[in-house]
Amino acid sequence: MICVSIGRGRHKQMKAEHGHLVEQGARLVELRLDYIRRDVNLKRLIDDRPCPVIITCRRERDGGKWAGTEQARMMLLRAAIAEGVEYVDLEEDVAGDIPRYGKTKRIVSLHDFRETPDDLETIWERMAGLDADIVKISTMAHSPHDNLRMLRMVKKAILPTVGICMGEIGTPSRILAGKFGAPFTYATFHHERTLAPGQLSFRQMTDVFQYDKIDENTDVYGVAADPIGHSLSPIIHNAAFRRLKLNKVYVPFRVPREDIDDFLFDCREMGVKGLSITIPHKESVLRHLAKADSSVRGIGAANTIIFDDDQALGYNTDFKAAMDSLDASLKGDPTEKPFAGKAALVLGAGGVSRAIAFGLVQREAQVHIASRTHMRSQELAERLGCRAIEWDERYDLKPDIIVNGTPIGMHPNVDESPYDRKHLKPAMTVFDTVYNPEQTLLLKEARQVGCTVITGVEMFVRQAALQFRLFTGQTPPVKEMREDLKRAIGPHGRG
Ligand code: NAP
Repeated sequence: MICVSIGRGRHKQMKAEHGHLVEQGARLVELRLDYIRRDVNLKRLIDDRPCPVIITCRRERDGGKWAGTEQARMMLLRAAIAEGVEYVDLEEDVAGDIPRYGKTKRIVSLHDFRETPDDLETIWERMAGLDADIVKISTMAHSPHDNLRMLRMVKKAILPTVGICMGEIGTPSRILAGKFGAPFTYATFHHERTLAPGQLSFRQMTDVFQYDKIDENTDVYGVAADPIGHSLSPIIHNAAFRRLKLNKVYVPFRVPREDIDDFLFDCREMGVKGLSITIPHKESVLRHLAKADSSVRGIGAANTIIFDDDQALGYNTDFKAAMDSLDASLKGDPTEKPFAGKAALVLGAGGVSRAIAFGLVQREAQVHIASRTHMRSQELAERLGCRAIEWDERYDLKPDIIVNGTPIGMHPNVDESPYDRKHLKPAMTVFDTVYNPEQTLLLKEARQVGCTVITGVEMFVRQAALQFRLFTGQTPPVKEMREDLKRAIGPHGRG
């Protein structure tokens, strides 16, 4: 179950949001009395309530907004119990002073905005001893391992326990709460009005992650990246799982560079069966792979890991997707070596450029790599056996194929292009890996000139579809995945 927290300044807004949420399917809401800017009229909020409520009145030191006296706050909490609300949230230090009465269930809570303490189990025992019906522990995550420690505690608990890690790194603990046995998780009314760091909205929890369908048998997949904020992979993969009615969920894991080793180790206990790997981990994950396909070894980077029993298997679907996209753009027969001897200019020397340059070299194209940091181009060219040229020399070449593997042109910098229009020629094939927006300035200009164009959306959908097949062994719903991606990006690209 999802508990949606409502924090509004006026009674009227609070009641309106409560009603609206119930219409959308919410079955439990938390009314945050500390957000109300005038004297709280409790009865007005809870009489005729459309669904069960948790009454919470948080002090500033616990991350709330309560500006009144502690005496007044305690009176409100006692009044809520006397009125018979379904749940009342009592912080650990006041739980002993407010006795049980009637049917109201007691959530004994602790908030730590600094860290996830080492002694979670000891804290849990202390809180459970305060006549708790539910223990709630909410702490700040600084590493992905904090999620596992929290979920482990939730699973072990002999009383219903909600354990949440705050912050973007902690988001998986919110999504996976139900899998580990928590009675509910918390969400917010709207994703732009979070009441705690890292909180997701009710709609994200229901529409994207299908939270209420997650149970102990749900297989976990996800993307490991840093930054993670705008990854579109959770939208596409979860929608595809839903279409095929699979008991699987795809989670955004923000994993800082230094935490990747521990994170991969923790994956098994978290129930993670497969991962998309992106910046900055595509290269560093290689040391954890028991097996990898030949492209991974050739490129020196993996973007997909499958956990098969205790082994991690690595794949590079970027490479295959990019080559499939190039093949699809050809008028002729791809088996006739259409790229042999063709001059290809690859802009950028990062993960994506690496995969595409590798594929083009294999296909006997004359590959030239131009990147802002020349040393990176040189290292890559040396590894692949092709040429590096200075970024400023990119117009000296007359390429048949141009690949943009830089983020230039990506939202919000949609008026930028890595290659000046005046150097474009109709016979060129222009492949922009940027997918947000789909129609980048480079592609718009290339199309106007008469070039053959390949979009980043084409490549993104293909790599996601290949990952889906690796994750599930089933045929991916490619058409729908493309539509979902385009809808998520929107006509002008999204931030
Ligand atoms: P990356 O490893 O960070 O590499 C980025 C490359 O672009 C580096 O060579 C970097 O040069 C260069 N660069 C960055 N900003 C630049 C600028 N302003 N001017 C010139 N060069 C610049 O990133 P990646 O994983 O390869 O991803 C690159 C892009 O590919 C992403 O932004 C995304 O749009 C796209 N992508 C597409 C797909 C798809 O499926 N369609 C998948 C993944 C990524 P320095 O070394 O100097 O920083």
